[in-house]
Amino acid sequence: MTFESMAQNDLNKLTVIIVGLGIAGLSVAIECHGKGHNVMVFEKYEELKQMEGDGISIGSNGARVTAKWGDGAFHKLIRPLEFQTNRAKVFDYTGYCYGTFELHGYNEGHGYTVNRGALVYAMHQYAQSIGIPIALGSEVTKYWETEDEAGIEVDGRRISADCVVCAEGIHSHGRLSITGQQMNLQETDYAASRGYLDAQVAARNPSLSWILSEEESRSEDCIYGWLGPGVHFGITTKKKDNELFWYCSHKAASTAPQNDDETMNQILQCMNGWEVRDQLEAVIKGVMSGRFISEKLAIRTPLTTWLSPRRRMIVVGDAAHAALPSSGQGGTQAIEDAATLAIALDLAGKKNVPLALSVTEKIRYQRAQIVQQGGLAVLQFVMNHVDFDALRQDPTMVKPPHPAWILDHDCQDYALKEFSKVAEAVRNGQEYVPCNIPSDGQYRMEYDSK
Ligand SMILES: Cc1cc2nc3c(=O)[nH]c(=O)nc-3n(C[C@H](O)[C@H](O)[C@H](O)COP(=O)(O)OP(=O)(O)OC[C@H]3O[C@@H](n4cnc5c(N)ncnc54)[C@H](O)[C@@H]3O)c2cc1C
Repeated sequence: MTFESMAQNDLNKLTVIIVGLGIAGLSVAIECHGKGHNVMVFEKYEELKQMEGDGISIGSNGARVTAKWGDGAFHKLIRPLEFQTNRAKVFDYTGYCYGTFELHGYNEGHGYTVNRGALVYAMHQYAQSIGIPIALGSEVTKYWETEDEAGIEVDGRRISADCVVCAEGIHSHGRLSITGQQMNLQETDYAASRGYLDAQVAARNPSLSWILSEEESRSEDCIYGWLGPGVHFGITTKKKDNELFWYCSHKAASTAPQNDDETMNQILQCMNGWEVRDQLEAVIKGVMSGRFISEKLAIRTPLTTWLSPRRRMIVVGDAAHAALPSSGQGGTQAIEDAATLAIALDLAGKKNVPLALSVTEKIRYQRAQIVQQGGLAVLQFVMNHVDFDALRQDPTMVKPPHPAWILDHDCQDYALKEFSKVAEAVRNGQEYVPCNIPSDGQYRMEYDSK
């Protein structure tokens, strides 16, 4: 059945067009489908890669939503893919170990860490299994709206719905047509590099055995982190499959490296004098072909709106609030967008779609922007340690952050409880002050209080 015929079959049902098959688009599709709306997803690529990129951690604030998909069916699907990291072990560049810390909010039963491509692939599989129509190889070339409907153009066809959700990712073109804005880039002095080592490479390399079969935590996965002046290096293991991925935040080179080898050598140069340099060199250079990425880090300036003029189109996920990787929340915030939008559409109903989109924006906007800006705070926190003696005196200073206001938040409960209040503010043109953010509106990394 086509999307158009589905829509005509039940005129009372909301119809939602979703553009983009990433974490954001798939989450919107699954959440809206779960509310009984007619959804259709369009993706420009012909196929998805089963493994792509490195690991992504979905915090408990996102996992709380995805745990409900199919009453746990989706989590069952991803369980075998998970890196079972419950702890982080933190060292400094001299090899001094500050201790092993529990990873609240990203550990088993709360959040999860999986390969990014594998997560999207699993979401896609799950979406298909519940009957969500997905058109691959379908690039959306135009967005439009009237007072009564919104739509897209794809492959020369014009398709309409009650609303359109643009989840095109960081490089979105649709964002400009919908909001009239682009995100500006502000370069930082930092670069981030990442590498992925698969089972075949890692198992053959004796110089990696120290990390994949560490005595004290034989079968348990761990995140290992090293702090040095201007460098942060981390490794996440998946011991049961002899896999690991690493990431490194470092000062960007004054002249751009010409190839991967040059970049890797530049990272190693930052580690000159490090006790563990040789061990880490084996990890850095053991990367699988095609699985090394390095990029200069840039902050995206927030959009002033996520909505189209008639409020029948909205941007979500990275298209709306792309954050630095150090926020550790880009994908998770996209899941919050999706869950909030589905609830708002449900509560507002087919006759009040613009209201639903406005309510979604009001609930989500500030929270997503603060997380987006927080990526820089986290990056500076890990990069700017200079007084390593002070850290030894108080090792809690290197504990992985646990911002409770982010991780302990239940976005669905919040949307359900706040909907009427926000809807009233929208209708009356009043300000809405959200309480899903710290009270001073500033990013916080604290462990256990709002
Ligand atoms: C190194 C790194 C580490 C990260 N770590 C974490 C982490 O630990 N935790 C976390 O939560 N987040 C993390 N993130 C962020 C997270 O990966 C992103 O926020 C998330 O993947 C964005 O999803 P998205 O669906 O918005 O966009 P995308 O994944 O970019 O998906 C957009 C899709 O839209 C499609 N598309 C674009 N234009 C069109 C069009 N016109 N027509 C049809 N299709 C179109 C694209 O092909 C693409 O498939 C990390 C990011 C990086 C780079």
